[in-house]
Amino acid sequence: MGKYVRDFLALGLAAIALGGGCVEDAQATGGDEEPRPKITLRVYNYARVPTPILVSAEGEAQKIFREVGVETEWLDCRLWAAEPRTPAYQRPLTTLDLILRLLPPSMAQTIAVQNNEVFGMALNVDGPTTDALIFYQRVLDLARTGYIYEQEILAAAMAHEIGHLLLGSNSHSSTGIMRAKWNRDELELARLRRLLFTPDQSKLIRANVLARVQTRATGTTPTVTLQVYDYARVSASLLRSAKEQAAKAFLQAGIETDWRACLLEQKDSPSPCGFSGTSGSVHRPDRT
Ligand SMILES: [Zn+2]
Repeated sequence: MGKYVRDFLALGLAAIALGGGCVEDAQATGGDEEPRPKITLRVYNYARVPTPILVSAEGEAQKIFREVGVETEWLDCRLWAAEPRTPAYQRPLTTLDLILRLLPPSMAQTIAVQNNEVFGMALNVDGPTTDALIFYQRVLDLARTGYIYEQEILAAAMAHEIGHLLLGSNSHSSTGIMRAKWNRDELELARLRRLLFTPDQSKLIRANVLARVQTRATGTTPTVTLQVYDYARVSASLLRSAKEQAAKAFLQAGIETDWRACLLEQKDSPSPCGFSGTSGSVHRPDRT
């Protein structure tokens, strides 16, 4: 079981002012020839962040991780059955997937947060994957100051929380994007797209992601195959959501899951299901 670790990423707004001065547009972190492993961010946009804002923020966060030497793929996950499906979304959850939930106030209020300035929270566990939450109202509150655009602060906040997922607990630092409290200097850097991970953090993140890649490549993560016979005719969206939650729970225990939607009638063959494997198990949801 995981536990929520409060992430006191907060803002000190008192010192914000439009100041002069320039920052050189130069940075050299992680720009080497090492292979660039890729992680997938599955984004649940409960806060209904407008698509242009979200796409822009994801693009900015992607650049932050490129500085680390890690590529990111962003999947905007469906919240409702009526939303269109994408092939990528139907891919199984793996150790290289992280989940990011953007919460509106109504959902954020259900989570006890001691500090009104907290931007997000990371579900920090010992397992290979976990969730991060962003309290979107905090992003909007800061954007309303006119100092920094919504997408800029969202990008930095997302990168910070993802950083917790890849760096583990106690991963705040005195400088850079993993500072626990952002003041004017951090916001200025975020605005200039220079609020980044430190070189040491970049190494750790890269090593973490490479280890996840290696785990997949060597097959050291055991996999169980779940053959699902949906006699109850559970809706596709509900079943997919339930599978994803169950897959995540198993993944946190170090076990990957391979879900097979088994056909109910013989004439529908070929079926992906059978009993040839030694790891197979069968779950038959019934109406009872
Ligand atoms: Zn933090």
